[in-house]
Amino acid sequence: MSQHLTTVAGVTVDTRHFIGGDRAASTETFTDVSPIDGRALGAIARATAKEAAAAVAAAEAAFPGWAATPPAERARLLRAVADGVEKRIEELALVETADNGALLRSHRRGVMPRVAHNFRFFADRLLKLGHAEFETRGHAQHVSWDPAGPCVLITPWNAPLMLATWKVAPALAAGDTVVLKPSEWSPLTASLLADIATAAGLPAGVLNVVQGYGSEIGSTLTSHPDVRRVSFTGSVPTARLIAASAASRLTPLSLELGGKSPLLVFADADLELAAELAVEQYDNAGQVCLAATRVLVEETAAEEFTRRFTEKAAGLVQGDPRDEATDIGPLIHPHQLEKVDGFVTRALDAGARAVIGGHRGHGLYYPPTLLTDVDQDSEIVQEEVFGPVLTLQTFTGEDEAVRLANGTRFGLAATVATGDHERARRVAARLVAGTVWTNCFFVRDLRAPFGGSRQSGVGREGGDWSFDFYCDLKTTVTAPNGWTD
Ligand code: NAD
Repeated sequence: MSQHLTTVAGVTVDTRHFIGGDRAASTETFTDVSPIDGRALGAIARATAKEAAAAVAAAEAAFPGWAATPPAERARLLRAVADGVEKRIEELALVETADNGALLRSHRRGVMPRVAHNFRFFADRLLKLGHAEFETRGHAQHVSWDPAGPCVLITPWNAPLMLATWKVAPALAAGDTVVLKPSEWSPLTASLLADIATAAGLPAGVLNVVQGYGSEIGSTLTSHPDVRRVSFTGSVPTARLIAASAASRLTPLSLELGGKSPLLVFADADLELAAELAVEQYDNAGQVCLAATRVLVEETAAEEFTRRFTEKAAGLVQGDPRDEATDIGPLIHPHQLEKVDGFVTRALDAGARAVIGGHRGHGLYYPPTLLTDVDQDSEIVQEEVFGPVLTLQTFTGEDEAVRLANGTRFGLAATVATGDHERARRVAARLVAGTVWTNCFFVRDLRAPFGGSRQSGVGREGGDWSFDFYCDLKTTVTAPNGWTD
């Protein structure tokens, strides 16, 4: 087998970049390690600035041809990519689980079908994208959504292929070309996507993948003069670096960042459902941007809610994410374990009490944790932990609930549990969040805008909002006789 191929869960993965339709090796590599058992999965190409610039050059060279490709043909190719993903769902699920430790059953049944849907959805949407027409004193005003150019898409490790294709699909649909930089902690499925795109017939250079460390090649990508859009999903500190870098060229940015979302439980709620919603926040070992990690319970219901929650949490199975019975897998990386453990230890030192968990497990498996006796201005309430750690605070009345819920620098999402529909509407209207769920969680429709308020993000993607970001909107005005006055 070539030194550039590795086999993961029986699937062959190319460890090189994908630039201009060809595989490209780097002199340097980094070792990708599975969080399940610490096994090395492969020596992945580690891009230099020169290779990152070559990927942008390939995207720039492919742009005129792709932008001029009729929408129906672009849509056909995106559907062919969706078909390719669907054919390889099992392989993609196995590789993603080996790489980032999230549940195999979720990858099989939810995540990878959604990856295919991302391509199908934006292919369909592209064909419905309107051309607005107005008339002003006999002058026709025509608004078009024009392809913008090469886009740099930088993505995290917690849902690697799902979050990557949520950007790749609309960018390609819009007629833009792409340089995708996946996380160095989960590089493998992006490489498989490149194979799928090639097999689907996507022209060379339309999709490029560069592997490596954001700290080493990020600024080459985000400050490049030929890059017309930068879309980033990741942490707030990295977003600040990217925003500063992109500012040198005033390149438009979309930032989908962290959260510290609240789950508000009113005493009139179905407490069984509320406890279920709280336990759901341990999904992916809490490594979910949208996770409602601050549980806020009305004082009079706190005891009953805690009893039901504890009972449900005790039934969670933590272990190998490849096992069908497992509910919670490992954290992604030893650094993440240290980070999570540090947050919890400092909170306990400051006087918090662990209702469940509160200590390390074996290896990267951190037990589900609920901390109470925490202050609103404490680190554990204010900062994103990104692990299976929830806090519990109590409130009296709607005003206090809303004050606590809105009392962080984030605003990604919020969940409200109440039996009173009027209250649900009233409270939702007062919450600062990109998405509010009432009596449910994680239901998402690609037609809806997605993003965060405050430091949870800049801009919205999803539905036609994605096209507003990935396109240059142009107004063409034509005089009645074909000439402007
Ligand atoms: P991260 O910010 O550490 O890294 C994300 C990506 O940025 C990686 O590909 C990394 O290589 C790259 N990067 C690092 N330094 C860079 C630089 N200087 N220039 C350019 N790129 C650089 O985030 P992470 O730890 O991978 O992901 C976890 C974070 O992502 C959490 O904060 C989580 O809430 C957030 N997230 C948000 C959403 C959302 O939709 N809002 C979804 C998932 C994750």
